[in-house]
Amino acid sequence: MATIGFIGVGNMGGPMAANLVKAGHAVRVFDVMEANVARAVAGGAAKAASVADACKGAAVIVTMLPAGPEVRGVYGGAGGVIASAAPGTLLIDASTIDVDSARAVAADAAAAGLLMIDAPVSGGVGGASGGTLTFMVGGPDEGFARAKPILEAMGKTIVHAGPSGNGQAAKICNNMILGISMIAVSEGFNLAARLGLDAQKLFDIASKSSGQCWSMTTYCPVPGPVPTSPANRDYQAGFTAAMMAKDLRLAQQAAQAAGAVTPLGAAAAQLYALMGAAGRGAVDFSGIIRLLDGK
Ligand code: NAD
Repeated sequence: MATIGFIGVGNMGGPMAANLVKAGHAVRVFDVMEANVARAVAGGAAKAASVADACKGAAVIVTMLPAGPEVRGVYGGAGGVIASAAPGTLLIDASTIDVDSARAVAADAAAAGLLMIDAPVSGGVGGASGGTLTFMVGGPDEGFARAKPILEAMGKTIVHAGPSGNGQAAKICNNMILGISMIAVSEGFNLAARLGLDAQKLFDIASKSSGQCWSMTTYCPVPGPVPTSPANRDYQAGFTAAMMAKDLRLAQQAAQAAGAVTPLGAAAAQLYALMGAAGRGAVDFSGIIRLLDGK
């Protein structure tokens, strides 16, 4: 079992750190929010006083931070992870961030003799608590091999997507598909309602036809057909519209830099941003159906 420094124990990082404790690792946590540290300590982790303190004696460092600027800030500078970790330490960033930041930080880590992978997740808070996350990993083979047993304590599906940044690339491509497909399914159900076609009937037909997709069959945006979907609890998140807007912004930045043509991704980014502007950023992203229906 390893000594693991865990930085960023919020909604996702908190339960992920708890699963590492459950697996028998010695986990030392740091977060700028004292309440989140206290929750992790109650779950069996030890408290670290700073980023550098969390790195002390750790064989592995895991970070689960909001976005690229926080990741660059925590890894860089005096007192940052790269300056504080002992040579040979494995660094795992599980945050969802821009591909450029992921590659820049990994390059700085490699220059300092540290092995780093990007390992963003899908599965949400439920997956983090249940230890069933999917990890999409970018980085060298050796980093993936060393990280796998650690990631297995927090997730079920662990895929090596290629070199540094490719985990982030997989994450934003997947979420761009998801964000667009939720809008498509929502438009279909809204049109059906205006045409006098019952939502359950459309579901029974389309879920067995060529319109079938995850946004319909697992996360249906109308109440009724899929009892576990957020539509049945007034679109309580789940995965917030604000998080979806962030991921779609990252996808658009990457598309522009790489010269990929993604007009539907661009439109989807604007529509989820509109949910935020309408004061609905904290609502589940499937609540886009109501915005599209003028509600
Ligand atoms: P969160 O805001 O709940 O947690 C982030 C934590 O990082 C907070 O506790 C915050 O205090 C801490 N933090 C911020 N700056 C820090 C710093 N400089 N030093 C130390 N700690 C710092 O967010 P979350 O929902 O846990 O999401 C974390 C990441 O996971 C994000 O990149 C998000 O996009 C991604 N993600 C979230 C979900 C989800 O459903 N919540 C799903 C998949 C991926």
